[in-house]
Amino acid sequence: MITAGIDVGSTAAKAVLLRDREILGWAVQPTGWSPKEAGKNVFQEAVKSAGVSAGQIEKVVGTGYGRVSLDFLDKAVTEISCHAMGAHFYYPNNEVIIDIGGQDSKVILKNDRGKVVNFLMNDKCAAGTGRFLQVTINSLGLELDQLDKLPAAEPANINSMCTVFAESEVISLLAGGTAKESIVAGLLKSIAKRVSTMASSMHKKSDITFTGGVAQNRLLREMLGRELKAGVVVPPNPQIIGALGAALIAQNI
Ligand code: ADP
Repeated sequence: MITAGIDVGSTAAKAVLLRDREILGWAVQPTGWSPKEAGKNVFQEAVKSAGVSAGQIEKVVGTGYGRVSLDFLDKAVTEISCHAMGAHFYYPNNEVIIDIGGQDSKVILKNDRGKVVNFLMNDKCAAGTGRFLQVTINSLGLELDQLDKLPAAEPANINSMCTVFAESEVISLLAGGTAKESIVAGLLKSIAKRVSTMASSMHKKSDITFTGGVAQNRLLREMLGRELKAGVVVPPNPQIIGALGAALIAQNI
């Protein structure tokens, strides 16, 4: 049975095609101004990458904030449930999932079948999200994929949680001669602190699974581990975990 999961997030649209437990293909695209178009296009790209025809796909589940705009779904499911199921696929023994996406961050507690037991979500402010990172590093003239290549450095003190104030703090630090790598480390530390405060009430003994686009940053993963005094593991391609979870849920509807 071939199923598809489509996750239309605030920043990126993701799609995964699954046959039993094998990922046949996947795609990631910017959501842009039209979640409907992004969902349709990312689905078509994933179908192409899987080398199958759309007619072979038996069930399609949508998730993410843009799921309501997709008119070709068999079912729409919340991203919390999909992230829990997608994370469970790789790390069934980990109970807690931290997901950091473009405009929100979540902490999810799941059971041994991948079902959600509890969750906390910050979607009220950009602190601790991909948007915070993107805006602040842009003022350093850096791109996201350059961050892990910077030399190791002592984190600079970033006091503002608010993106706009943090951006002015970054500009002042830069003007005062602080090295870019220290500022980046400071920004990542501020995200790690913010998210681990949210996660601390749910943290169990097992390792934590870290998902979402921001989980691609290695330094942040290490900082989260230090803040939470826990092992933090990142699945392959952490940005598509919600779409993977949707494709897994589609196998049982
Ligand atoms: P959403 O579902 O809300 O659209 P995603 O989970 O798709 O969010 O993640 C999108 C975010 O991932 C973007 O805001 C971007 O900041 C972040 N991101 C993308 N690539 C990287 C990277 N290499 N390192 C850190 N963050 C990244």
